[in-house]
Amino acid sequence: MKINKYRDFVGTTPMGTELNILRYEIDSEKEGHHIYIQSGIHGGEITQWIAHELFLFIKKNLHQGKVTLVPCANPVSWTQRAYYSTNGKFDFYMGKDWNRNFPGNSEGSMGEKIAAVLFENAKKADFVLDLHTSRESIPFAIYSRPEYEDILKIIAIKYNQFIDMQKNSSYSNTMNACLDKVGVNNLCIECGSHDAYEPNNIREVVNGIKRLFSAYEMIDSKFTEIAPNEIKTFAKTVKYTSPMGCLIRLAKPLGAEIKKGDDLFYCFDNNNLGSIVAVQSKHDGVLFKASPTHIYWSGDDVVQLLLNEDTKPLTTVD
Ligand SMILES: [Zn+2]
Repeated sequence: MKINKYRDFVGTTPMGTELNILRYEIDSEKEGHHIYIQSGIHGGEITQWIAHELFLFIKKNLHQGKVTLVPCANPVSWTQRAYYSTNGKFDFYMGKDWNRNFPGNSEGSMGEKIAAVLFENAKKADFVLDLHTSRESIPFAIYSRPEYEDILKIIAIKYNQFIDMQKNSSYSNTMNACLDKVGVNNLCIECGSHDAYEPNNIREVVNGIKRLFSAYEMIDSKFTEIAPNEIKTFAKTVKYTSPMGCLIRLAKPLGAEIKKGDDLFYCFDNNNLGSIVAVQSKHDGVLFKASPTHIYWSGDDVVQLLLNEDTKPLTTVD
């Protein structure tokens, strides 16, 4: 077993400090698959719980192939702090989503330089996992090609959202879409909520990744937990927004199965003290994502549902 730690240089700050991306290579030194796992292209999305756990596990148990772990893929987005909140989804300089700079450009902007270094390393692997968190959410995988459903069946995260990233131009510069273009299989996993420690969510994702290692014969199958028998894919989501500026409380917990007519959330309006306005669902689906706040302006995103129309159950692999 060989474990190497690299610091990939991406640039310098005005203070002269070097900006580097840490990369761990855990190599069994035996022929096999190479999986690349990346955390934290967006600052504040703490999926590093998973990287820590996987690192400890792999260094003991990897018996074939190689794993690359990048625990913090972006040395700039994590510096974007305001009080206790790390606001690392968008580049404050360019106003752009940090995950829209791929495949990157080593002569380009800071974001493109970071993307270029990440992409160069990621495309050497034969499978790439890009780990994120999503506002307040349950874990769900995002996949960009129907062919990846075979991999979803192995990893067996309960909810899986299909986004056709080649057709939908707003995704064309994500890491996933660019890896598709160079023929590297990949998946994005939203591992739960921003800036949270959610043991059950971590467990679901770590177990899924271990099942993938096992299917690729990189670890012994005795280390894996049995997958749920069935998982679901969704191709459509719907967003519910705030009808007014107000405070909002959710009516249902994340992960709840919602029926048409169910209360989704309650609005508390200062123009009408004492009255509470309920907003009801017009759809059947799963409450998978909510905004991490109670404070809303008119038209802000409140919750999103994965819609039951266009859903497909998949039987998982034993
Ligand atoms: Zn993200």
